[in-house]
Amino acid sequence: MSAVLVLEGIRKSFGENEVLKGIDLEVAAHEVVCLIGASGSGKSTLLRCTNLVEPIDAGRVVVEGEEITAAGVDANRVRRRIGIVYQSFNLFPHMTVLRNITLAPREALKMDRKAAEEHAISLLARFGLADRKDEYPDRLSGGQQQRVAIVRALAMRPSIMLLDEVTSALDPELVAEVLNVIRELAREGMTMIIATHEMGFARDIADRVCFLEGGRILEQGPPEKIFSSPENPRTARFLRRII
Ligand code: ADP
Ligand code: MG
Repeated sequence: MSAVLVLEGIRKSFGENEVLKGIDLEVAAHEVVCLIGASGSGKSTLLRCTNLVEPIDAGRVVVEGEEITAAGVDANRVRRRIGIVYQSFNLFPHMTVLRNITLAPREALKMDRKAAEEHAISLLARFGLADRKDEYPDRLSGGQQQRVAIVRALAMRPSIMLLDEVTSALDPELVAEVLNVIRELAREGMTMIIATHEMGFARDIADRVCFLEGGRILEQGPPEKIFSSPENPRTARFLRRII
């Protein structure tokens, strides 16, 4: 299977603090990779470096065969193929749900309004949000807002989705509806990298789990293996602490 995303030797420091110490990761089409690891291990930075929101110090990012870190590449254009959703939903508060979703397709992809709205409405319908299209974000629950944020990323028809702790800011009773949307995306074959503290979810949804510590991938493998018989004692220690 061809790789949708290749990360090679990604390094990133903030001042003296080297946060990513040479990350190599290949993600195949339709693969779901979960990143686990203690707070501060570098999961968010890795996702932000992947779509170049955060500039990297060394390494290469290749999306569908195109190196987006190469000199002269319009990172904005390529970045559109990488959807990212954060812990905080970041919807534009002064825009309706429909406007939130259609803004980037209209401005960045130059879709006409009707086509952008039809696509947005079909996505909203797929995730049980069709009747919310004219609401403003503050009229929605946190779970609904996060589902809209996911739809907004999908509206760009990304090749890969990066999800960073997307349920961490939600009240516990709202977590399941967001996880179900992600499950649905996985079922449809969306390629994803998911940073998560929800170990049960990771075990359930991941094709591969990567354990990060101190800016390195210390161990990776299928979830059955990582969660039941990790080889690295540090992985085992982390899992004992949090499960
Ligand atoms: P995780 O998502 O696994 O909790 P992060 O990627 O957020 O880890 O953080 C990794 C390390 O990088 C932490 O030590 C954090 O303090 C540091 N860090 C992250 N973002 C910044 C930033 N913008 N400026 C300085 N340090 C940062
Ligand atoms: Mg994080």
